[in-house]
Parts: sequence; C-alpha cells; structure tokens
Amino acid sequence: MKGAVYHGPRDIRIEDVPEPTPQPGRLLIEVSRNGICGSDLHTYVGASKGGATMHVPGIVLGHEFAGTVRDVGDGIDDIAVGTHVAIAPIEWCGSCYSCTHSWPQMCRKLGLYGGYRLPLHGGLAPLVSVSRRSAFEVPEGLGVIEAALAEPMAVAVHAVRRAPNLLGANVMVLGAGPIGLGVLQSAIAAGARTTIVTEISEARRRAAARLGAGAIVDPSADDPRTAVRDLTGHGVDVVFETTANDAALSQGIRSLRPRGTLVSVAGWGELARVDMGVSMAKEIDIRFTMTYEPAIDYPATLSMLASGAFDTDVLISDHIPLDRVIEDGLEELLHHADQHVKILVDPS
Ligand SMILES: [Zn+2]
Ligand SMILES: [Zn+2]
Repeated sequence: MKGAVYHGPRDIRIEDVPEPTPQPGRLLIEVSRNGICGSDLHTYVGASKGGATMHVPGIVLGHEFAGTVRDVGDGIDDIAVGTHVAIAPIEWCGSCYSCTHSWPQMCRKLGLYGGYRLPLHGGLAPLVSVSRRSAFEVPEGLGVIEAALAEPMAVAVHAVRRAPNLLGANVMVLGAGPIGLGVLQSAIAAGARTTIVTEISEARRRAAARLGAGAIVDPSADDPRTAVRDLTGHGVDVVFETTANDAALSQGIRSLRPRGTLVSVAGWGELARVDMGVSMAKEIDIRFTMTYEPAIDYPATLSMLASGAFDTDVLISDHIPLDRVIEDGLEELLHHADQHVKILVDPS
C-alpha cells in the first residue's frame, strides 16, 4: 500500500509501505479520512515549532483520522469488524504520574501516531494499526468521513472544559483556524452569551460568521477592544488564545475583565511576551490546555459532532487524494492557509 512517509524537512514521499497486520490488543483500521494539521505543516517545513525534530523518519504521517475496523487482534472482544471509529492518536505509558491521574496527554513518554516521538505509523495510508484504547465508536448520525474532525474538535472541547463555566459568559476567541472555529462552536454549545472572534484572514472571518460568532474583528484593521467595550462594557470573561502570536495574546489579555481567564490553546514554539503588569492589575488567570483526555473528550466531541454542534460543512474545506497531499495539501496550506479551514485526505 502507499503511504505519506516522513523522511525529513521538505521530504515527505508517497511510497510503498508494508501493510500492517493485526497485533494482540490492537485494531486494524481502514482510514476514511485524515486531516492535515498545522503541526504537520511545521513538521513539513522543519520548523522547531510542533516538534519537527521529534519526528521519527520513515514513519507514515497523519494523526487526525477516523475509519472502519477491518480486523481485530487477539484479546479484543468488545468491538466488531465494520465498526466506525475515531482515533485519539496518542500513546501513553499508563504508569507515570499523569497517566495514573487519567491525564495521558501529559504522559512522560507521550507519543503520537504519525511518528511524533514514537515510531507509530499514522493515518496517511489506507490501513493503520492502533491500540484498542485509542479507538472511539462513531455514534449514529455522524459519518465516518466527518468523524476525522474528532481529533481537532476534541482539542476545542478540552479547551472549553479547562475554562470556567461559559453559561451566559462573554467569550473572545483569538484566531479562526480549525481550532479557533471549534472553540467558537464549543463555547456556543456551552452557553456563551457573546462571542467575539479575531482573525486576519477574510475567508476564516466568513467561516466564523457562518458559525454564529456574535462579532468578528480583523485585528490588523481594528482594535478588538472597541468591539469588546461595545458588547460587554467591562471586558470579556474568558479569552481563548489559538494563534501563538504575541500581538493577539496581548490583545486578549487587554480585552479581559478584571479576574477574567485566558485559556491558552495554541502550541507555542517560542517564548511568549506576556504583559505581566496588565495581567497583575486585573488579577487574571491564565490556564493551559494540552490536546485532550481521550476517555472524556472523545465521546463528548463525537456526540457533539453527531448532534450538529459542529458544522462539518464549514469546517471541511476540501477533500484530496493521498497522491496530492504535498501539492494540494501541505503546499496549499503553506501558501493559502487563509483560504482553507480543514483539508481532509482520502488515503484509499
Ligand atoms: Zn493536529
Ligand atoms: Zn505515562
């Protein structure tokens, strides 16, 4: 079978890889779709951000995937061949401090399918072997193709779970990429009263509007604090930061009400500049999120996807075949990210 294999920066090849066979405790998944993530772009260009240097060469990329169980290994009797599943693409040791507190996403030995830190093949191939505990059944009402959005949307759901209660809250989301838009929809589902989104790309601002954002600001043209003042008077209760951008972070902190909370969702590759003076004067809280807790966030995200809390038509901007993953996927996102939300790859 063909897979998209990482060999190094700017060196991802579509080449023959051996078909996986069912192993004890593991499932063989026929991949329906695999989404391209911002971190895949960092890996592709070899930026330090996203841990490109942590990628194992010779491994099939891709960590945002769903599919159909094609075979089960010895010892598995609780899932049938033919079941649609979304994959939480992390591997954890099960015995370190974080694992024993049910926070596998912070495992000391954490690895990701797609070759991040561990030689685990990812979803950019027709077949992939995953551990049983990583697979979550896709509920009625959600297609196995759209289920590929479970991974990025679980990041959004986890971020909202890490935030204070959003019922009736004024919320600001910095950035309207896939994660920012997912956070917007999760915040609306959690009962946010006002939502303000900042985004420099026009296409992504349009997506935010279609998803019901209360106010949308282009921070390169207007100061978001004007919208915040008009809509809330005193500042927002919660800001979600999804951009890893100092200017946005600063606008977010300045948009908070006294004792507001900033939730940092983005993956930062460099040190951030934080206005400690303003943060202190308003006694703000800053919280961080690290991907998701699969056992909690995946079932929640999948039922939200099935119920329509996430608009998959807006979130999925293109479907491409595996042999176009470089030109129409990675290169396209590198040069025209502002025209896309999520590109899904069909590896069949
Ligand atoms: Zn991702
Ligand atoms: Zn662990």
